Amino acid sequence: MIKAELTGLIAQIAVEKTLFSFDMLFDYLVPFDLAEKAAAGKRVIVDFGRGVSGKKRQGMIFSVREDAYEPAKTKKISAVIDEEPLLSGEMLRLVAWLKENTFCTYFDAVKTVIPAGLGVKLSDDDDSIKARYKGDVTKIVSVASGFDFESFAPTPKQKAVIEMLEEYESACVKEICAVASVTSAVVTNLIKKGALEAREDARSRALSKDFEVTASLDDIVFSAAQQEVFDGLKTLADSGEAKCALLRGITGSGKTSVFIKLIEHTLNRGKTAVMLVPEIALTPQMTGHFKSLFGNRVAIIHSGLSLGQRADEYKRIKSGEAGIIVGTRSAVFAPLENIGIIVIDEEGEHSYKSDRSPRYHARNVAKQRAFHHNALLLLASATPSIESYHFAKMNRYSLFELNERYSKAILPDVYIVDMKIEYENGNRSNFSNVLLDEIAENLARGEQSLILLNRRGYHTYARCIRCGTAVNCPVCLVPLTYHKKGNKIQCHYCNFSAQMPDLCEKCKCKHIYQTGTGTQRVEDEIAEIFPNARVLRMDADTTISKTAFETKFAEFRSGAYDIMVGTQMIAKGLDFENITLVGVLAIDKALYSSDYLGFEKTFSLITQVVGRSGRGSKKGRAYLQTFTPEHYVLNLAAAQDYAEFYEQEADVRKALIFPPFCDIFLIGFSAVDEAVSEKAAKKFLEILSDELCSAEEKFPYRVLGPSKSGTGRAGGKYRHKLIIKCKNNASFRKIISNALKTAYNDNNFKYVGIYADINGEIL
Ligand code: ADP
Ligand code: ZN
Repeated sequence: MIKAELTGLIAQIAVEKTLFSFDMLFDYLVPFDLAEKAAAGKRVIVDFGRGVSGKKRQGMIFSVREDAYEPAKTKKISAVIDEEPLLSGEMLRLVAWLKENTFCTYFDAVKTVIPAGLGVKLSDDDDSIKARYKGDVTKIVSVASGFDFESFAPTPKQKAVIEMLEEYESACVKEICAVASVTSAVVTNLIKKGALEAREDARSRALSKDFEVTASLDDIVFSAAQQEVFDGLKTLADSGEAKCALLRGITGSGKTSVFIKLIEHTLNRGKTAVMLVPEIALTPQMTGHFKSLFGNRVAIIHSGLSLGQRADEYKRIKSGEAGIIVGTRSAVFAPLENIGIIVIDEEGEHSYKSDRSPRYHARNVAKQRAFHHNALLLLASATPSIESYHFAKMNRYSLFELNERYSKAILPDVYIVDMKIEYENGNRSNFSNVLLDEIAENLARGEQSLILLNRRGYHTYARCIRCGTAVNCPVCLVPLTYHKKGNKIQCHYCNFSAQMPDLCEKCKCKHIYQTGTGTQRVEDEIAEIFPNARVLRMDADTTISKTAFETKFAEFRSGAYDIMVGTQMIAKGLDFENITLVGVLAIDKALYSSDYLGFEKTFSLITQVVGRSGRGSKKGRAYLQTFTPEHYVLNLAAAQDYAEFYEQEADVRKALIFPPFCDIFLIGFSAVDEAVSEKAAKKFLEILSDELCSAEEKFPYRVLGPSKSGTGRAGGKYRHKLIIKCKNNASFRKIISNALKTAYNDNNFKYVGIYADINGEIL
């Protein structure tokens, strides 16, 4: 029989909400009336699923070709959404790369690359929106990190809000009302329940369109060392080929000034620039700095902006007004043409790795983009990742170093304080006597101090001193953290919160006692010892509920506070010249984490926070309090000896076989039932072994596990993991991808969540 075949325009389309096991580019016929409009990079509406007309879904056209098709089997595109392509050819290739390298679906990758909120139209004179919306435009709302959604049964309206925010990360209340079709009361209620977090939008000022240039690029006068580094990097940038360089410069050596001049040079050549910073908290300082120098040519991209703000910035980039992007991880996808340079500041920071699908690393995406644009990728840090420094030493990256602080500033003196001796002498407080003396000294001199404690809350655990029973989270089974405000206990994994109990659950006695220390308690202790000191506490609790970082940091800079107490968010990037004393409390816990990155993170944290001290004309000092003063990582961090730390850590990684001497694929499993999660992990190992056996190529690899992940339980689910040490290449990724597809279709995985992650943290 002859098949009824015709020729027509066929579009290859990525469709939303497909399962990983069934994800590919689907062929659709372009009807005659849409032939003019359909083009690669535009979004479309298509029918998907069984039957003559399946469900309507959104899709993205990857390509359009003239081809033969079978009319009976080929569905048609229903509508083309965009007038102009949203994604360029480069971006479509990047989407395919993301899918291949992070095991996500095409459309998940599309959503990551498209600027959020573009499809959302908001007009102020829309009465239906006004009717739903009452209140404050300037509140930016996002899903609360770690809220336990498993044991939360939302109403349909609440569900619409949560789904919307999961997609866009943040939006202002007005946008939520419009997009999810709800009243502001629904949003307020979800905030009260702890499912959403709101913070004040202090950034609209930084986004203001008429930013005046108040500083001059001519005020940057390079030292001889900076000039040498700049010249070397300029040569690479001008080479017309894709290059990757690593700049290791001690804290305060003037790396930022070098970036700024390189970016100026890039713009003068008619090209564009991307400047990535590791945390939203650091964007105001960096954007403020950039805007004062480059004015309106700077655009900001990060997930803490409202949809409207993000769409505005997108338009300014598209129109060519803004040629410099400053932003966090997601800014690496900025829709820029003609990129000349991408800078990744504090490149070793783990916030550059996405911990949700697609689990990409901004550094790897930046490499793809630099390659496409023949641009320079500049990685910079005082404490580069072991991986990047290793590649630099192997000559895969060009290495540049700045070993002195700019101008006359010198590195602070660092002292390690043995807390065992303090304890033996009867000191039960969080502060050694010497640190207290130094704080008093700084108060007398009118200089500022910074106290780092990487744990928020008041006392860490609540526990019965008679029977030893800890007060645990009913969902995650981990000890709850005590918060003084409201006398509450809270879970830092899932946000479960309750009143501090009066009686021990087990023995019913009244002797519940709190141990450990958090930032809140330290704040109180300082207030007791130095009643006149003005203390600013910066951690996830204070910054979400009150005002944003920008205001607080500005107040601190202006001298409104004497002491800043905070978690790791205050350790990096801040440049305040009146800070001359840094105290680090209870650093030991970080050293003994289960992750192979534990030493790297601790070394970096200490080096960075110590580097906040004495950045101006006054000499600084730092005190590290520890119960293990002999630990080599602490001693090398105190000496700011990165080169030696690298040698030691590289030796350990090589001996134990960890990245960069291998790659690590982590396969994570989660299920409500512990046995189901564990069984799935075992079953996956079988599937993987079969795949590897039947492959023609032979792969050296080693599997660790299955074992429990982290605390074994989080968000109401049990978690297990497999760790596979191997070499990350296309054929091994294919094996993993096939194994995942098989698992998705296997009954053992019916109630199991699975994901695969390459070279991330091992928790
Ligand atoms: P890093 O980023 O390496 O920690 P910064 O770039 O923040 O160091 O420089 C530290 C301080 O020195 C900043 O206050 C900065 O303004 C100043 N500085 C560095 N280089 C120059 C320069 N070439 N001209 C003027 N000031 C500079
Ligand atoms: Zn919990």
